[in-house]
Amino acid sequence: MNNKYQSEIEDFLAYVSARNPNEPEFLSAVREVAEVIIPFINENPKYKGKKILERMVEPERVIMFRVPWVDDKGEIQVNRGYRVEFNSAIGPYKGGLRFHSTVNLSVLKFLGFEQTFKNSLTSLPMGGGKGGSDFSVRGKSDAEIMRFSQAFMQELFRHIGPNTDVPAGDIGVGGRELGYLFGMYKKLRNEFTGVLTGKGLAWGGSLIRPEATGYGVVYFAEAALNNIGKSIKGLRIAISGFGNVSWGVVKKVNDLGGKVVTLSGPDGYIYDPDGVTGQKVDYMLRLRASNRDIIEPYAEKFGVKFFPGKKPWEQKVDLAIPCAIQNEFDEEDARQVVANGLIGVVEAANMPLTHRAIEIIQENRLLYVPGKAANAGGVAVSGLEMTQNAMHLQWTAKEVDDYLKRIMHNIHENTYKYGKLPDGYIDYKKGANIAGFIKVADAMLDQGVV
Ligand code: GLU
Repeated sequence: MNNKYQSEIEDFLAYVSARNPNEPEFLSAVREVAEVIIPFINENPKYKGKKILERMVEPERVIMFRVPWVDDKGEIQVNRGYRVEFNSAIGPYKGGLRFHSTVNLSVLKFLGFEQTFKNSLTSLPMGGGKGGSDFSVRGKSDAEIMRFSQAFMQELFRHIGPNTDVPAGDIGVGGRELGYLFGMYKKLRNEFTGVLTGKGLAWGGSLIRPEATGYGVVYFAEAALNNIGKSIKGLRIAISGFGNVSWGVVKKVNDLGGKVVTLSGPDGYIYDPDGVTGQKVDYMLRLRASNRDIIEPYAEKFGVKFFPGKKPWEQKVDLAIPCAIQNEFDEEDARQVVANGLIGVVEAANMPLTHRAIEIIQENRLLYVPGKAANAGGVAVSGLEMTQNAMHLQWTAKEVDDYLKRIMHNIHENTYKYGKLPDGYIDYKKGANIAGFIKVADAMLDQGVV
């Protein structure tokens, strides 16, 4: 914390809080950025007096809509849909759709704000956006998921387009949901365009997109570990979740010779001392497709221990990679991880650590990598999918993976450059926010007050 600018930071947060009451998630995301960027603006006069941060915390547009649909029993259900078009300074709005019971405006504003910085870090021309619904796939049939996705797109389609806003997946939105969303978009518009990313391979998708977020996290983690004379090889790693991001992390950790020993769901976590390998990795996909949203069946199937209602951060491992959801790792977890002597925490989810947890990890000089840097590989390959669509071709898996590696390596270099502290510690949070900010802020200054 930079005490010199503390009162300016607090005043700014009070201003944001007053304008956005009851939006704690959004306010937390703004806090993480403001603590770094307000001192940076003061030290870089070109950004001063331009209300640049005031403009950045205001979404360019928020769309909120009714999503009525009929369930398998013939009953009418009503959900709420959103698209937060946050910032288009450096490219069309870009970011995922989340279908989850916790979705509300605050959550989507936090995600859209984060996405703006993350997308900037990828070096690709993508603005920031996020959307979704409070609809949960848990316990729904495939037919219900299809009808809901179609109803959602019946409104969203008029707000998006390949050069305007390009949604993708996020929690609760994978290949299946994207298929239903794309099908309805194509029907309504009568055109086949790259309006969504994460598409199926047969209809415009990119190889490596499903793996990209997890792979990118591990590429970044490897670069950050190498930097302190360590590597993934031989490490025991605790992760949370069992969805798409976790799956990619598991696959790449296995490739690099590490071992993932935990997975979790809303019901608790499993501890698998032999590591999640071989057919267990494919089983993760089957669990996700079952729409049950629980991890316990893994323990039954593979004869490992299940810890109901607990979090995997209590295990003594070498590295923690939270892959599930915001605020899943709190102050108590941070203290546990410090006491257990972990190397650090790399965020694969979007803001899984609370503000206090980050402070504790960083005060103790453990490695900490924020999601906006570590998990940018997903949206980066979405950007590559847009490029392939625009060129009407499909690259090989190796071409995409090589590109992804280069992008993650660049993000590491860039965040390292701005995050290096006088005592040698790398503050990746500082680095990610400054590196992400510069490109967006410069574009906004160039484009005038719009
Ligand atoms: N939902 C992912 C994220 O949080 C991916 C977004 C995208 O591919 O547009 O970055």
